[in-house]
Amino acid sequence: MIKTTTKTLIDSQTIAKKLKAIADQITKDLISQHNDTDSTPQLTIIPIMTGAIIFLADLIRLIPLKAQIHLVTITSYPGTATTSQGAKLGDLNHLPHDLKDQNVLIIDDILDSGATLTLAKQLVQKKHPQSVKTCVLLRKFRDNKPIAPFNADYTCFDIPDEFVVGYGLDYDDYYRNLPDICILQNP
Ligand code: 5GP
Ligand code: MG
Repeated sequence: MIKTTTKTLIDSQTIAKKLKAIADQITKDLISQHNDTDSTPQLTIIPIMTGAIIFLADLIRLIPLKAQIHLVTITSYPGTATTSQGAKLGDLNHLPHDLKDQNVLIIDDILDSGATLTLAKQLVQKKHPQSVKTCVLLRKFRDNKPIAPFNADYTCFDIPDEFVVGYGLDYDDYYRNLPDICILQNP
């Protein structure tokens, strides 16, 4: 039997450094978007569970703005699947009835086909927010171009078309607690 192993692709120090830069950019953009009003910018973060859980926890603590969180589950790689089975809304949907006056930032672990973020953005837009932006930790590339036709506003890292785990990303719900982002070999 061939043994399943993990190989580090992006280590935790590199992730931490990049997150700081992205958080600074998000903060700066939101403040400049609000320059012409007296109000403090308000941020509503919508992480796609469960893969974005670690990314959310680290990113939100680097953004010094008034911020709230609403959790949503969207599943496209259920269980042991290593290819997309199509994005489906899960059981958890803590979106309020209305997102009026909110600057929404949807965050996800990885942008692959783009189906998850497309669905999430449609869901949010129905609630009439003031603005909607998207932020992903990883974006997959194939043949030197992004796989998804969807363009996220903030992308931390571009990676090759490999199945990755760690830093919140799972295989059959395991490996989320690895501090590094790793390629899963022989799943
Ligand atoms: P998309 O809908 O863009 O095809 O895929 C995005 C979702 O698929 C992510 O939220 C993530 O849950 C899952 N996904 C895509 N690629 C990978 C991968 O390499 N590893 C893991 N663990 N999940 C992935
Ligand atoms: Mg996901």
